Amino acid sequence: MDRSALARKLLGSLSRLKREDALDERVRRTLVRTLYTQPSSLAIGAFNGIMSSLIVAIWSGQQLFAILAAVLSVIAIARLAAALRMSSDDSSRTTRQLELVYEVGAFSYAFVIGTMAAFTLYLGLSAELEVLMMANATCYGVGICARNAGRPTIALGQLTLVVLPILAAAVAIGTTPMLFLAFTMVLLLPAMASITFNVFKTLRDSIAAAEQSERMAQQMRKIARTDVVTGLINRAGLNQDIVEKIMGLPEGQMLALFWIDLDRFKEVNDLLGHQIGDRVLLETASRLQESTPEGSTIARFGGDEFVIFVEVADRREAERVASEIQAEIMTPMRVSGDLLEVAASIGVALLPEDGIDADTLLQNADLALYHAKVNGRKQTSFYAPSMSRDLVRRREIEAELRSAIVKDELSIFFQPIVDLESGKIRSFEALVRWFHPKKGELRPDEFIPVAEETGVIVTLGNWITARAAKVAAQWPEDVTLAVNLSPMQIRAPGASLGILNALRQANLDPRRLELEVTESLFMDDHTATDAFISDLSDAGVQFALDDFGTGYSSLAYIQKYPFTKVKIDRSFVSGPDVGTKSDAIIHAVAELGSKLDMEIVAEGIETMDQLRNVREAGCTLGQGYHFSRAVPDYLATMLLAQERDDDAPKQAIA
Ligand code: C2E
Ligand code: CA
Ligand code: CA
Repeated sequence: MDRSALARKLLGSLSRLKREDALDERVRRTLVRTLYTQPSSLAIGAFNGIMSSLIVAIWSGQQLFAILAAVLSVIAIARLAAALRMSSDDSSRTTRQLELVYEVGAFSYAFVIGTMAAFTLYLGLSAELEVLMMANATCYGVGICARNAGRPTIALGQLTLVVLPILAAAVAIGTTPMLFLAFTMVLLLPAMASITFNVFKTLRDSIAAAEQSERMAQQMRKIARTDVVTGLINRAGLNQDIVEKIMGLPEGQMLALFWIDLDRFKEVNDLLGHQIGDRVLLETASRLQESTPEGSTIARFGGDEFVIFVEVADRREAERVASEIQAEIMTPMRVSGDLLEVAASIGVALLPEDGIDADTLLQNADLALYHAKVNGRKQTSFYAPSMSRDLVRRREIEAELRSAIVKDELSIFFQPIVDLESGKIRSFEALVRWFHPKKGELRPDEFIPVAEETGVIVTLGNWITARAAKVAAQWPEDVTLAVNLSPMQIRAPGASLGILNALRQANLDPRRLELEVTESLFMDDHTATDAFISDLSDAGVQFALDDFGTGYSSLAYIQKYPFTKVKIDRSFVSGPDVGTKSDAIIHAVAELGSKLDMEIVAEGIETMDQLRNVREAGCTLGQGYHFSRAVPDYLATMLLAQERDDDAPKQAIA
């Protein structure tokens, strides 16, 4: 081999060494760690080295060996001390520092032990001492290649430093056995290099594979915790984070859990498509991130629900955060050129007030959310213990409501609506009653909302209309029947046909039916509502706007739909807040009625004063306990008969 070929080969193996060294830092650190593991093997090596060198020094009686033995002992002890002090997991030291400290000790130790062996040969000490020192040095050199294969440069460096002095001594002695020893030493280097590299590669590859699978596992864990649409954490991620946050909550701090539900998001999805739906969710997610304090945890809880938890100082701060979230979501968002208005209902539970563990907090925030939705959406409700009691009662009602119709526990009562001019009954409003075998008489306010949420209202509403129509068919022609209608009844397929059928079967003229609806009806699906109202009003059915003044009180609906009546809510007539303001409102509505040729009904008249008041304000009809409570059908018939009887003599006189 000529010199340039040799140089190329050397350069080649050097660059290979470099390449091998260009390892990923984490793998490298693990490999460097192998240098420091098992300090006991280091201790055994040190003990052997020190003992053999001392024996050689004492038995030879030569000063040179005494010096070398002293140097070797100092190095061995220093290395051991360094290894014990410097933990490989010590993150304050870089991998390179750890490696360097090891290198300095290892190389100097290897060189001294090799040199000592070389001198025992060269100076021709006794055969026993030569064997002892040579065995010690070569065993160390070969053994270290296996032990330090994790850092092959160090391992081979050590072997070379052990071998070189021995090689030099053997060549210098120059006898045939010694020359062959030199040859053996030369062969030892590539042989051990190949073994060391093989061990190193196996070691490195298995560490790298372990690293890789750990990294993949980490990634999988991350994916499993992440919501794909918004990039927020999902339910699984939240469950984990919430527990951590509760555990790490500083003393005196509160945790507020907000459960957010987008109102009517299903419509966005159904009408505009899932892509737009996803964009809305994404936009909502980024708005939530903007409107909550730093460090808040935000999760998408599936569908259109989000859960946020935030550390707060007090309840006031939680209220502030909730209103910021509301404001942020309500700002119209531009999605693919369309301006969309989104609103949300929010339920809030606080730790420690409303619960001290994740499950209770979530459950209570959910209950509060439910209340926010029932109370008309677009609002925030904070959890209160009464909500839990309500829920239990609701569940019971829900379970029993379906069978109540079949078991004949429901009946319909009729409350007269009276002409304020003549004092005559112009119509009766049908009001449902539930005579529960255990709970006694239940008011519709308790079970109608449950019926609406569960969908039972459709069956229940049809039953009420059919029953009431049968009763009303027995009344004089000029007395009409008013029936309350829930928005959900309208959305059921064939809703208008159902009502017309009921009328036909009862033989009641459609013009004698009046459907009372509230403004909430118009918040929902317009096309279905419009079709329903126009179908029925074409057939002659009349419509009354119920509970006017409690909702939006929008005049737009009065203008758009064929209402013949507006019913002013009883809170303006006999509620605790009646006064000059409510009087002014009654006046205004009454005036509007007379201009638009609509009847204005004052609900909830309980006293003579209230009656006088609403009559003076211009209301044309009245309803309330002052005239009569809602009564069973036979009493309603009696009231009508009484009225006719009262009329008879008057007519006779006239
Ligand atoms: P609403 O339509 O506003 O019905 C009038 C309510 O006011 C009735 O309560 C009636 O008993 C009560 N009321 C009448 N006069 C007075 C008074 O002078 N003072 C006071 N304080 N209250 C008076 P009710 O029967 O408990 O019904 C409550 C609500 O339940 C109704 O309010 C209506 O929204 C709903 N509801 C009742 N029956 C039905 C029904 O058959 N179908 C549907 N969908 N809803 C119904
Ligand atoms: Ca009503
Ligand atoms: Ca009403």
